[in-house]
Amino acid sequence: MSDVQVVDAERAGGFPCVVAALDVGGTKIAGALVRYAASDTAPVVEARRAVPTKAARGGAAVLETLSALAGELVAAGATDGQAVVGVGVGTAGRVDARTGSIAYANEIMPGWTGQPVAAHLREVLGLPVAVLNDVQAHALGEARWGAAQGADTCLMVAAGTGLGGAIIAHGRVLRGAHGFAGEVGHTLSPDAAGVRCVCGGTSHLESVASGSGIEERYRAAGGEALSGAEIAERAAAGDELARQVIELAGSSLGEAIAGWASMLDPELVVLAGSVLNAGPLWRDALHEGYARQTPETLRSLPLVDAQLKGDAPLIGAAENLLDFLGARD
Ligand SMILES: [Zn+2]
Repeated sequence: MSDVQVVDAERAGGFPCVVAALDVGGTKIAGALVRYAASDTAPVVEARRAVPTKAARGGAAVLETLSALAGELVAAGATDGQAVVGVGVGTAGRVDARTGSIAYANEIMPGWTGQPVAAHLREVLGLPVAVLNDVQAHALGEARWGAAQGADTCLMVAAGTGLGGAIIAHGRVLRGAHGFAGEVGHTLSPDAAGVRCVCGGTSHLESVASGSGIEERYRAAGGEALSGAEIAERAAAGDELARQVIELAGSSLGEAIAGWASMLDPELVVLAGSVLNAGPLWRDALHEGYARQTPETLRSLPLVDAQLKGDAPLIGAAENLLDFLGARD
């Protein structure tokens, strides 16, 4: 940590405090003030706002939009009489843990790769800034104040359009050597054997267990072009092809979770994302898949749903800033 960051940490001064938190996605940038009365009371999320990302404009323009929204929040905090101590950002893409720059973002956010998010916001706002991946932010929020509150070690699996994940190890986000730790979607699954993945690889779990994977598998098996939610409805109504695709999504994910649990030994697994709404066929298949492949010692591992919804990445981004400042040490 540089000298500048040490000075920042001293300035933060612990609790009570307010953090400006932002969540950058492909379609919108959400922001809020996260207010802490004390270190051990749940934060209050207020002054929520959101603007369209308009990602097609390119990374530099998105960074300006993010910077403007962060500036608004810092100003809003100041008018409330309690100065914002810093800015926490969760963002789509992989984040370089040392610099807070975007190490990699896919084509949903063209030109986001390489953007110096932390350095730019720090320069514009004159405040400490901490940046991490959005799924990692979600997991940290749930670990501190949601479904995994109090857990020392947990795994989050987020099955939405894509399939993401994050690992909390000893109360902190495990960032990994390049900021990619917990990227579960591009691990091998026998149920995806031979299927080309969006990442360029083959046989990856995301191709069968994510929302887009469900849609693609249904089409590839001769079904219509439907949304994941529509396919789940058809499955519940007795459509045989839809049922197979939904059950495969659940069982392949459950089996994969058994493998990761065996490697990580978490206290619990937190499930998040729109695929959780796929209904009891999906959920039963998930639990059966898990039970089939898990060792006896991990049979009773809780697989629980996330609790904090849209606030989770904001709270997690704020918590990451507090960790960066050393406020919880
Ligand atoms: Zn892949």
